[in-house]
Amino acid sequence: MPATDYKPRPYDGPSREEVLAMRKQYANPAIFTMFKDPIMIVEGHMQWLFDDTGKRYLDMLAGIVTVSCGHCHPKVTAAIRDQVERLQHATTIYLHPGMPAFARKLASKMPEGLDVTYFVNSGSEANDLAIQIARTYTGNSDVIALRNAYHGASPFANTLTSHSTWKYPVNPSGGIHHAINPDPYRSPFSGTPEEIASKTAADIRDLIRFSTPGKVAAFIAEPIQGVGGTTHGAKNFLREAYAVIREHGGLCIADEVQTGFGRTGDHYWGFQNFDVVPDIVVMAKGIGNGVPLAAVTTRAEIAQSLTNRIHFNTFGGNPVCMAAGSAVLDVIDEDGLQENSRVIGARLKAGLKRLMAGHSLIGDVRGMGLMLGMELVRDRSSKEPAKAETLEILERAREMGVLFGKGGIDGNVLRIKPPMCINAEDADFAVDVLDQAFASIR
Ligand code: PMP
Repeated sequence: MPATDYKPRPYDGPSREEVLAMRKQYANPAIFTMFKDPIMIVEGHMQWLFDDTGKRYLDMLAGIVTVSCGHCHPKVTAAIRDQVERLQHATTIYLHPGMPAFARKLASKMPEGLDVTYFVNSGSEANDLAIQIARTYTGNSDVIALRNAYHGASPFANTLTSHSTWKYPVNPSGGIHHAINPDPYRSPFSGTPEEIASKTAADIRDLIRFSTPGKVAAFIAEPIQGVGGTTHGAKNFLREAYAVIREHGGLCIADEVQTGFGRTGDHYWGFQNFDVVPDIVVMAKGIGNGVPLAAVTTRAEIAQSLTNRIHFNTFGGNPVCMAAGSAVLDVIDEDGLQENSRVIGARLKAGLKRLMAGHSLIGDVRGMGLMLGMELVRDRSSKEPAKAETLEILERAREMGVLFGKGGIDGNVLRIKPPMCINAEDADFAVDVLDQAFASIR
């Protein structure tokens, strides 16, 4: 395990067993823990997490792709502390410099014209709002999302989400259609990834023709699907899909909740890897490095459509989250985190690909920058998902001090999306641990 100077404080709170018992009795039973024997995390520093016994873990999931700069990054923590001491809350009915200043800073990171931002508190809420804006602006109702997408768990965002595992049988919103996924690894179409991308984009035209009045409000897609297992189409997919949607009167929404803020390495935003400019950008998770903060950015004339009614969000744009978000943008630049994602991500991906030669369970390694995925299959030609084996690998890695995530509708994809501050030594260690984990379950 790579060394660190950081010493966690001794933990003196309730025991792990007491916390488990409290959760069991008082918390909603729908929340779940990873690992057979749940870990209790009580402290974090940059890429490191510490449990109640002081055991250190390398966090290769970043609190589910949320801790962009590093756990408790000193600059982000200082900005939050300073703001909490001055003013925690007053709402947007009063002026405060934090909200418009952070909106301006976000605009400086966006393609020209995408410069008006509405702040909310979670990715689900942001996606709800993005669809509301698109429907209000276009006057159309139908929305196209992709199969295998995850856009949130609020009743409306949940209808955009395309995994039976996350769906309750309540159907809160109609008019959502899920198009075929462009991921070449499991596509129903054949051909090169580019041909599959074109066939998939062309199928959206048919979907619109058969399932809608011929006009749509929006197309929403994660440039690289996160929860779905780091899946994406060839470079031409989004470009061709956006063209079809715009032909039918719709707006294009990029859900950058996981792909934004430099994580994909070559670009600040995930959509830039595919040469497209969306009409609406949805952000959450990494934008706040762990505080509840999400945002919807669009063009001024589109945002204007919301003004025909009163719209208000009690915590949206609160000074503490604005201070955190603003510090996050500074840290990404000052610490060179996009470049680090590019360089360390390429090293990590090469290491993961090398493991394929020795471990036949690895069916695919994919992704960009520090947004990587490794799909485990029992057989490389049938691609039968290796669900139980994936859990086993996660357990073995945890024993060796590395925490990975799990994704994909079958739960057979290792999600490898660490805080963007990890270094080469950490990346090599993570690969070694996976190598040993695979060897141990052969
Ligand atoms: N969009 C994407 C791409 C996500 O990954 C998530 C969360 N996993 C969401 C939206 C929803 O965000 P939240 O959990 O903050 O509501």
